[in-house]
Amino acid sequence: MIGSIANRTLLQPKSLADALKMLRDEGPLTPLAGCTDLYVALNFGTLKDVRFLNLWGLERLRPIGIRAGMLAIGALATYTDLIRSPVVRKRLPMLVAAAREVGGVQIQNRGTIGGNVVNASPAGDTLPVLAAADAVVVLQSAGGVRRIPFNAFYTGYRQTVRRSDEIVVALEIAPIRGRQYFRKVGTRAAQAISKVVMAGVAGTPPRIALGSVAPTVIRAAQTEAAIAGGASLEAAQRILADELSPIDDMRSTAEYRRRVAVNLLAQFVLGR
Ligand SMILES: Cc1cc2nc3c(=O)[nH]c(=O)nc-3n(C[C@H](O)[C@H](O)[C@H](O)COP(=O)(O)OP(=O)(O)OC[C@H]3O[C@@H](n4cnc5c(N)ncnc54)[C@H](O)[C@@H]3O)c2cc1C
Repeated sequence: MIGSIANRTLLQPKSLADALKMLRDEGPLTPLAGCTDLYVALNFGTLKDVRFLNLWGLERLRPIGIRAGMLAIGALATYTDLIRSPVVRKRLPMLVAAAREVGGVQIQNRGTIGGNVVNASPAGDTLPVLAAADAVVVLQSAGGVRRIPFNAFYTGYRQTVRRSDEIVVALEIAPIRGRQYFRKVGTRAAQAISKVVMAGVAGTPPRIALGSVAPTVIRAAQTEAAIAGGASLEAAQRILADELSPIDDMRSTAEYRRRVAVNLLAQFVLGR
């Protein structure tokens, strides 16, 4: 049944400080950014939360730039912002490739990178990119700032280390050396949720991350080590197949996901 917005409250902070104070003093509150995930839950009647904090007007969370040598992406940066950003195109082309494949133009204009990260779907398209990039999640509360390595942010299926009084304010990414790779495989070329999504950096050592093949986005650490140690492609593919724990669901089968993942590994390794 479609959820109703009657009996739900939306708080409108005027600044980041204001928002953090509201989270501390008037919580629990659910942050709301582009609302593209939250609205789907409302529509499905699964949105239990009743009090929301509207982040959309907090311009401080939108800029993308270089801070102390790191690429710093504001949590409210939309996919369109990422696609258009010269600095993201230069430093992190695999993120631009991912952003181009998210939804359609409307979702790219409204959906944010912070929302994708906190929504914590294992199929989120930016997540393997951020995992392969060794990104850092910047969380802020009224009490201060915490920086969490992206690869320690998720603790289980749709679970993160974010506290309820914190919002994600930015993602930080150190400069990356090596060819970057991104590939999403879905039911069709556009407007599809991924069956398998993979991002990689062909550096020394290589970095490989996958989505939709486990309860959270994963780094394929054993496969990375095998490739760094000079393993053949076939051996690395066998290791990757063992490293994944995909499931059968309405979008695909575990067997198909495993096969696609090892094929993508070949593309990544061979540079195709
Ligand atoms: C038609 C359609 C197609 C889509 N296609 C794709 C796709 O191809 N690939 C893909 O990955 N996703 C897709 N999505 C999902 C969605 O668009 C993305 O996950 C988007 O990035 C969510 O961002 P948002 O700003 O809209 O998040 P919201 O819906 O506003 O929030 C999502 C979650 O994150 C929390 N949150 C948001 N921002 C913050 C913050 N700064 N700090 C703390 N918590 C926060 C919210 O409380 C909520 O739990 C699609 C959705 C739709 C409706």
